[in-house]
Amino acid sequence: MNNTPGGTQYEPVIGLEVHIEMLTKSKMFCACPVVDLPSAAPNSAVCPVCGGHPGSLPVLNGQAVEFGLRVAAALRCELAPISIFARKNYFYPDLPKGYQITQYEQPLAVNGQIILQTTKGEKLIHIRRVHLEEDTGKLTHVEPTGHTEGAQSFSLVDLNRAGVPLLEIVTEPDFSTAEEVRLYAEALRALVRYLGVNSGDLEKGVMRIEPNISVRPVGQEELGTKVEIKNLNSFRALERGVTYEISRQIELIESGGKVEQETVGWDEARQATYSQRSKEDAHDYRYFPEPDLPPLLVSKHWMDDVRGALPELPWERSRRFVRDYNLSPAEAWQLAAEKAPGDYFEAVLKANPGLALRTVYAWTTGELFSLMNAAGTGFDQLKIEAQSLADLLGRIAAGQINQNTGKAVLAEMFVTGQPAAGIVSARGLAQVSDQDFIAQKVAEVLAENAAEVTSYHSGKTTVVNFLFGQAMRKAGGKANPQVLRSELEKQLNQVNS
Ligand code: ADP
Ligand code: ZN
Ligand code: MG
Repeated sequence: MNNTPGGTQYEPVIGLEVHIEMLTKSKMFCACPVVDLPSAAPNSAVCPVCGGHPGSLPVLNGQAVEFGLRVAAALRCELAPISIFARKNYFYPDLPKGYQITQYEQPLAVNGQIILQTTKGEKLIHIRRVHLEEDTGKLTHVEPTGHTEGAQSFSLVDLNRAGVPLLEIVTEPDFSTAEEVRLYAEALRALVRYLGVNSGDLEKGVMRIEPNISVRPVGQEELGTKVEIKNLNSFRALERGVTYEISRQIELIESGGKVEQETVGWDEARQATYSQRSKEDAHDYRYFPEPDLPPLLVSKHWMDDVRGALPELPWERSRRFVRDYNLSPAEAWQLAAEKAPGDYFEAVLKANPGLALRTVYAWTTGELFSLMNAAGTGFDQLKIEAQSLADLLGRIAAGQINQNTGKAVLAEMFVTGQPAAGIVSARGLAQVSDQDFIAQKVAEVLAENAAEVTSYHSGKTTVVNFLFGQAMRKAGGKANPQVLRSELEKQLNQVNS
C-alpha cells in the first residue's frame, strides 16, 4: 500500500503475461529446426509452412504439447481434454501468414496456482490460463549512418523465429508489489529450466515478461485502468519498471490526471517507461478456429503420465531445504533456483554425512560459486566431484589441513580435477600441529617484533592478529590455527610475567 500527501492510500494491482519459447527440436507446425537466434544465419531455418506460403499446411508438434502440459501441470492447472487452435489475424512484416496460430476460447489449461515466499510471508497467485501458440519472426530496424544523400532507414526480416513454439502463461491480477512480481518471474524461470523447456535466458528474449499494472484507492472494488509494460529483459528491469509505473500512476491521479490504457516500453537508460501505443490502436484480431488443425485431444492417460513424471519442483525443493537443512528461504532458493547446485549440495552431504551442514553450504555457495564465477563456468564443466569436495572438507574438519590451505587446495582441484590427497602430499601442505615447531616460530616472531609485544602489554590487544599472521607465514601457512593461537597467547603472557 502506498500513502500519498493527500492521505489517500493506493493499492497496486498487477497481472502478468509471460511468453516462453519452448526449446523443442523442431518448430510448432513444421519440421524446421529451432535455432539459436543470434548465432544462426538469418532465414536459414524456414520452409513454406513457417514462411507462410499459401496452400502449406500445419502439423502440430507433439513435444511442444508435452512441454506445455508439464509446465501447466507444475502450476497445478486443470488440463483441458480438448483445446482448440485459433487464428489471431493482424498484419505485420514479421508475421508472414497474416495471422498467428494461438489458442483463444479453449486453451490448453486453466485455473492453476503458485505460492510465493515473499519477505512478508506466503502469497498465493492464481494462474488464469496456459496456452500454446507460435512465435513471430524478428525484425531489425536499420537507421542509415552518415549523411549519404537519399539514404533511408529499412528493416530486415529474419523468419528463423517464426513458428517457434511458444507457451503463454497468464495470471489473475493478484500481485500487489514489485517484489511479488519478481519472485513469480524467478520461480517460472527456475521451473522451465528444471523441466528442460527453456534456457531461461531473458536477455536473449526466450522468456518475455509483460506486467499489467493499475492502482486503485484502498477499499475500491473496481480495478483501475491498466498499463502494460513490454521489453523487460531482466528481473531487475522488471522490478524497477513495475515500481516506476506504480509511482507514476499514483502521482498522475494525485495531481488530478487520469491513467490512460496503453502499452509502454521500459527505457533502461532513463529508468522510466515511455508510451508505445494507446488503446485507440487496439486491434480487432477477428479470432476464429483454425480450420487447418483438428482439436487437440489430451487423454486422461497422457495427463496422468505428465503429472506422474514431474520432478521435484524448484519451490518444493526450496521449502524442503528450509525444513530439512535449516537454511533461510533466501539461502535455500540460492541452491534450488537451478537444479545442479542443489543436487551437488546434497551429494556432498550424502558422501560424508558427518560434515557440518553450514560448512557444506558455505563451501558450495561461497568458495565453489566464486571459483566458477571467476572462470565463467558452471556445474556442467565442474571437475570436482561431490565426493572429492566431501573428502577435502573432511580433511579440514579432521585438522589435516587448515581452512586457508583448504581454499588453495580447492582452487587447484578446480583447475586440475586432482583429488585433495594428491595435492596436499605433493605440495607438503599437511597442517602442522607439532607444539615444538609452532612454539619455535612464535618465539621467533615475538623476538623480531618487540615494539608490537610492548604495545600488546600496554593494552592494544588487537596486535595479536598481526603477530598471528606473521607466525602463520613463518610456518608456511600450515600451522594448526588453534594450536598457533594458544601458543601465541601463552608466550605473550609469559613475557609479561
Ligand atoms: P488484455 O486482453 O488487454 O490482454 P486481459 O484481461 O487478458 O487483458 O488481462 C491480461 C493480464 O492483465 C492478466 O494477467 C490480468 O490479470 C491482468 N489485468 C487485467 N486487468 C487488470 C487491471 N485492471 N489491473 C492490473 N492487471 C490487470
Ligand atoms: Zn518451417
Ligand atoms: Mg495483454
